[in-house]
Amino acid sequence: VLDVRGVRKAFGDHVVLDGIDLAIDQHEVVVLIGASGSGKSTLLRTINLIERVDDGQVLLNGDDLTDPTVDQDAARARIGVVSQHFNLFPHLRVIDNVTLAARKVHRMPKADAYARGTELLEQLGLGVKAREFPDRLSGGQQQRVAIVRAVMTDPELLLLDEITSALDPQLVGEVLDLVRVLRARGSTMLMATHEMSFAREVADRIVFMKGGRIVEQGTPAQILDAPQNPDTIAFLERER
Ligand code: ATP
Ligand code: MG
Repeated sequence: VLDVRGVRKAFGDHVVLDGIDLAIDQHEVVVLIGASGSGKSTLLRTINLIERVDDGQVLLNGDDLTDPTVDQDAARARIGVVSQHFNLFPHLRVIDNVTLAARKVHRMPKADAYARGTELLEQLGLGVKAREFPDRLSGGQQQRVAIVRAVMTDPELLLLDEITSALDPQLVGEVLDLVRVLRARGSTMLMATHEMSFAREVADRIVFMKGGRIVEQGTPAQILDAPQNPDTIAFLERER
């Protein structure tokens, strides 16, 4: 699904991504871990074309998104994104938040968007909240609405950046449950998290980054229980 090839990115003379190669298969769930500043969010942002790569390519199902002739909005519309800030529109009800991009960006007819949005909200345990405004929802519910919005149009890839880090601890579980549901439904996901227990549970593969490079990657058991690289070992010691 995704093929990141030799991606480099610097802000001024600060190299933040130093030659990233990362391929993700359909239905695969890949979790990025690494210290603050290691480049996880920047990598997600380059894949989503929020940041331009200085060098290298990002291919989505064979299409080079970093080709300057590519329609950026059309490319972005193929990827679902959820960040730590839910970014719901406060003046729109949940169902309208969920359906807005599907209607405006994907030109889904209103009735279809409402039917699909209602169905998804119900399947994902938010059916009773469809007519509420976001400020009537808990943080965990708001984040789940943001995730529903991201999957409305069946994106080819889902990017999740620290989606639980702004939540009270007791609300984290319900958001992680939803990620488990998406995993079971076959979504292809690339996510960054500081929650090692969650990474262990949902990841097919864990990728450890340091200083803008991929240092080590493997199954959760390989990376979390038997890391080989001294930097991975030191990072996990600090996280414990
Ligand atoms: P965290 O775990 O804290 O979320 P991260 O791994 O996601 O960290 P990034 O947000 O990718 O790290 O940041 C990597 C480095 O790039 C940091 O040193 C950061 O200060 C720098 N950086 C990120 N965005 C910009 C920007 N727009 N301009 C300048 N520097 C930036
Ligand atoms: Mg980050």
